[in-house]
Order: sequence, then C-alpha cells, then structure tokens
Amino acid sequence: MQIILRGTAAGYEAEHTARIFFPGAEKAPQVPAAGDFVLAVSHAQTDFVLLRRGGGLRWRSALRAPGADAEYALCSLLYSLLKEQTGQQPPWGMMTGVRPVRIIHDLRAMGATEQQVEDRFLRHFACSPQKFALAREIADRQRPLLDAADPMDCSVYAGIPFCPTRCSYCSFVSRTVGDKATQALVQPYVDALCRELTEIRALADRCGLRIRTFYIGGGTPTSLSAAQLEQLMGHIAATFDLGGLAEYTVEAGRPDCTDAEKLRILKQYGATRISINPQTFSDQVLRNIGRRHTAQDIIDCFAAARAAGHDNINMDLIAGLPGDTVEGFAGSLEQAVALDPENITVHTLTLKRASNLVVEHRAADYDDVAAMLERCTLLQRAGYAPYYLYRQKGTLQNLENIGWSKPGRECLYNIYIMEEVHTILSAGAGGSTKLVIPGKRHGKIERIFNFKYPTEYIDRFAEILDRKRRVEDFYEHYAAQKAGQP
Ligand code: SF4
Repeated sequence: MQIILRGTAAGYEAEHTARIFFPGAEKAPQVPAAGDFVLAVSHAQTDFVLLRRGGGLRWRSALRAPGADAEYALCSLLYSLLKEQTGQQPPWGMMTGVRPVRIIHDLRAMGATEQQVEDRFLRHFACSPQKFALAREIADRQRPLLDAADPMDCSVYAGIPFCPTRCSYCSFVSRTVGDKATQALVQPYVDALCRELTEIRALADRCGLRIRTFYIGGGTPTSLSAAQLEQLMGHIAATFDLGGLAEYTVEAGRPDCTDAEKLRILKQYGATRISINPQTFSDQVLRNIGRRHTAQDIIDCFAAARAAGHDNINMDLIAGLPGDTVEGFAGSLEQAVALDPENITVHTLTLKRASNLVVEHRAADYDDVAAMLERCTLLQRAGYAPYYLYRQKGTLQNLENIGWSKPGRECLYNIYIMEEVHTILSAGAGGSTKLVIPGKRHGKIERIFNFKYPTEYIDRFAEILDRKRRVEDFYEHYAAQKAGQP
C-alpha cells in the first residue's frame, strides 16, 4: 500500500490517518501505475480521497464548510472512506497523537468542561467510549502529581545502549555486548557516562534544580559487567543526593544478564525500583523474538531480586509478539500476576522499520491484539490500576501501551516524561534532554540531543558537554521572565 498526498492540508496527519488502517504503508511521490494506494487531495475549498485496493477503486469528495480546519476536514473524509472500505473500527478513532491523556490535561487546563473533553474524544476523534474512559481514569489518577509539579524539579536519565542479544522487534540503537568490537567500547562508554553525570549534577546545582527521580535505562543496564555496574552506581551514589530522590529506577531488563551479584549492587547503591521484563512467559515466543532465556529464568531472576531486597519491581509484557495467541498472552498475564510485582507494563507490539521483525517477517501473522489487551481486566481484578498510557506510530491495530500499578506504586518517572511534567536531563548515547517549564499549556519545551551511537558519544564527548550549556541559558531566560525582565 502506498500513500500519495496533494495540497497544503495533505501532510503528516493525513499520512498517519492512512496508516491507522495500513500500518506499513509507504509515502510515494506519484500515483503508481499498478498496486494499491491511498490518495488524499486538498484543494482550496474541496477535499478528495481515493482508495485503490485489489483492483477496485473507491473515492469520496466533499465541499469544505467556510472556516473549517482544512487538515481535519481532509483527515475526516479519508478516515470515513477507509473505515467503510476496510471494515475496521479503530479503537482510538482518528487520533494520531501519542499522548491521549495529555489532551485531557491540556483541555482541562484551558477551562474545558467535562462534556467538552468527552466531545473532543468521542466526536472529534471518533474514539471509542472505552478508550476515552481509560484515558480519563488515568488523567484523574495523575492529577495530584501534576498539581504538585514544581517548575524547578527535574529528573535524570542515564542510558546504557548495550544488550546481551538483539530482540527481533527492537529498533533501538543497542549493541550486542558479546561481540569483540562492542566489548572494547563498554568501559570507555561507562567512563564517559560517569563524567557526563558529574557535569549534570553541577549543571542542576547551577540552575537551582531539584532532582526528583533518577532512571537508568537502555538497552539493558545489567548487560554491563558487575564491576562496571558497581562503578556507575557507585559514581551516582557519590555524586547525587540519593536521599532527596522520590524514586530511583534501574531497568534490570533481561534475566540472561542479571544475576544475584548485580541485583545486590542495584540494592546496595540505592535503586528503589527495578524492572525485570519477561515480555512473554512462553518459551517458544521468547525464541521467536531472539531471547536466549526461558520463562523459568525470569521466575528465578524475580525470586533472586526479592531475595536481594527489591520491594518495587516492574515487569513488561508485550501483546502481539510473533507466534503468541490470545490464550498464550492471557497465560503470561496470569504468570506475571502470580509473581505479584508492584508494576506490570503492557505494551502492544510496534513494528519499527529498523527492526529485524519488520525486515525479516513483513508478512508475519499476528493474533488478535485487541482481544489480548481485553484480557488486562485480569490486572484490575488482581488490584492493579492503570496509571500511564502512551501510543506509538506503527503499533499493531493502532493500540496503546499502559503502565499498571498497585496503589501508591506508580512510577513517577514514567508520568513525568510522558506528560512532560518537568525537565529530564539525559546522559549517554541517544540521550534526549527535554527542558520543560510546566504550569502553562504549551509551556516552553526545548530539546538537546546527545549523539546516537556509543562510538560518536565517546569520540565527540566535548561537544556533548558544550551542548548542555543550553540548559543554563534556558533557566536563566526563565528566571529573567519570572522577574519580569524582557
Ligand atoms: S532488551 Fe530492549 S533494547 Fe535490548 S535488544 Fe531487546 S528490545 Fe532492544
């Protein structure tokens, strides 16, 4: 399937509206002589959309009402044609944004009534009542945290771009630690990361920022050797005031590189929350995605984490993995619940172009992912509640990712980053520092990017520190504004 766009209002939104129905569709400059395509054309006062599929042609055109939003009018026309012709009922309707909960927060902040919020979801986006109720429940649960946001709060993220093996669905710039070239990179990388974290602490102090949460993610942080992990966590403990943190998460991630010694190090150096991510409890599905551990390894790793004193553990599951079934996924949910972690995060598989899954298995057959997510009612019955939600482009059936937690065990960092509550200072390859002044709708947000690849990060480290100076400029500007200076 190809997507062809014509006219000023036919842009990003129309392209992604087509992908709600045809996730792998590629944008093309010209109408192809053969094959399937979607065409969306916006003229000065009219819109025209056309679908050619399996040799058949279907189209619609409409006169735009005076003053109507041209982009929305074109997308609505396209959505109605594709819905009719595919028979699909997209649960999030024609919403293409990735943060539905943020829309509710923003509308409320602008003074919208609850009826107006509902109309936005059900009429404007044609979202299902169930998805709207879910987003609203999460917005309500997050409200006290957002109300308590202080403009001078921030979080720190440190990224480890290494993993034991590459999962087939991964598009992340993660290198496999087993190969020799990568092994040679890991120690210089950890040294540079520690230096950047020292600079981040100094920067936070100079700007008057209070660090609320710390997050070490990846990749897989426990793919470092025990000595490297101890070096990193020891450095963090010596550099930052861990006692002042509300939360300190480390993604232990995978059981094939997480042992009792590393779990002890995480605990000893102050981690208050860890992730052990099965993705599935089916050995066959684990093999399908390129994991070299078994479901029993996950269970053993979880027991070792509890034995090491970790009392706040998250487990990630993915709905829609190749070879999984609705019953198989329900079995994974049951297994996770039986272990009784404090958080369970349920992702829907996203097909990213850079992943092996897309490259090698384009025609893979996925079971009914929506039916898998419906089984999450099991989590509610087990005492978990949804507390954060986001969507990604290319997710199967245009579904969502949801963090579930036991009461009071919500991951603050996940809410802070997803709802853009405060600044995140990021260290490491691929790190994206996000500078946020909360309190106003569309408050100022700026981004500073680190180099993507570990080699660039190490070789051009001085440039990384140079870019971070913009953090100070940002807060100086904010302080001047607050003081009423131009
Ligand atoms: S553990 Fe995560 S980052 Fe590493 S390869 Fe798998 S999906 Fe990618």
